[in-house]
Amino acid sequence: MQQLNVELGDRSYPIYIGSDLLSQSGLLARHISGKQVCVVTDDTVAPLYLDALCQALQGYQVLQVVLPTGEAFKTWSTLQQVFDALLAARHDRKTTLIALGGGVIGDMTGFAAACYQRGVDFIQMPTTLLSQVDSSVGGKTGINHPAGKNMLGAFYQPKAVLIDTDSLKTLPAREVSAGLAEIIKYGLIRDVAFLAWLEDNISGLRALDPSLVTEAIARSCQIKAEVVAADEREGGVRAILNLGHTFGHAIEAHQGYGQWLHGEAVGAGMVMALDMSCREGWISRADVDRATALIAAAGLPVSPPGNMQANDFMDLMAVDKKVLDGQLRLVLLKALGQAVVSAEFDSASLQATLAADQS
Ligand code: NAD
Ligand code: MG
Repeated sequence: MQQLNVELGDRSYPIYIGSDLLSQSGLLARHISGKQVCVVTDDTVAPLYLDALCQALQGYQVLQVVLPTGEAFKTWSTLQQVFDALLAARHDRKTTLIALGGGVIGDMTGFAAACYQRGVDFIQMPTTLLSQVDSSVGGKTGINHPAGKNMLGAFYQPKAVLIDTDSLKTLPAREVSAGLAEIIKYGLIRDVAFLAWLEDNISGLRALDPSLVTEAIARSCQIKAEVVAADEREGGVRAILNLGHTFGHAIEAHQGYGQWLHGEAVGAGMVMALDMSCREGWISRADVDRATALIAAAGLPVSPPGNMQANDFMDLMAVDKKVLDGQLRLVLLKALGQAVVSAEFDSASLQATLAADQS
């Protein structure tokens, strides 16, 4: 088992990465302070892992909340089911919520923990590659609104993140690729050596080679932990974690949540951000081609859906959370491994990128 730490003063917490963590009752107990525990999961993950986790929680008063699967259910009314169950079972302020599932469950459970009785403890047990390398770390929690993705939420840090790499064995290949999008993102924004390592190992990663996957998760979590420690509430540098996401969120919203996976939209969105960075004269066309080849080798789309026009992007990107005072800001690359957040781009570059991708 590997351990990393997210350094946030009195809100610091460990990330554990390893095989068979789900059943390690001692590890769990270290991060549960009361007698009540509420495990929140979805109806896909529940039959796979809920029993094993509940075995490890013997001795606690365990409430199980099984929500419908999918991004389309990352809503206010689904969240209400968690509160209803907690209140019906009389969970008090010392309860601990455990998120067992992908990013949808992690984001919703974290937000439920932030709200319930003004804040209770929670633990992340991410079971998708994407949630293991990204959403379970850093304390962004929330739900979607029909007008925009993740528009309601809170910054609320977990007490611990337990990443059981065995859970990936049941993950569909398409979801593995979606997780690889966020892993490639870390190389592009921050670590060109990691990018080269990913190029060398991409097929082993898609095949879920255990030591390669563990290494990729650890390096990704390390980068995310460093960025979050530097800027917990996204006043500045944290926004670089959104490379490809402004374009990607527009794709997700346009296609209907759940049609394109988040990671797939981020894959195509990163290619658009790379293209724009090239048009701004910051990176070479060879850099764009190199990164695009890696994204494609991960099994991800490298261009947006054919039914999206430039004006669809412009309309949807106007509600992005990086829009400040009406001005769109984008994450672009000054070089491979070096991201910046900028509003100072030539709008002609943006228009050219949007037009170029109407393939
Ligand atoms: P997800 O939670 O929808 O999970 C994907 C699918 O895999 C679901 O059908 C789920 O039931 C299934 N699943 C989960 N674990 C499984 C397993 N071990 N075996 C088989 N099937 C399994 O999607 P995701 O990609 O994990 O997360 C995407 C969400 O995360 C989005 O809502 C996105 O906004 C959010 N996100 C949040 C952050 C953050 O910082 N909070 C960062 C990135 C993404
Ligand atoms: Mg993301």
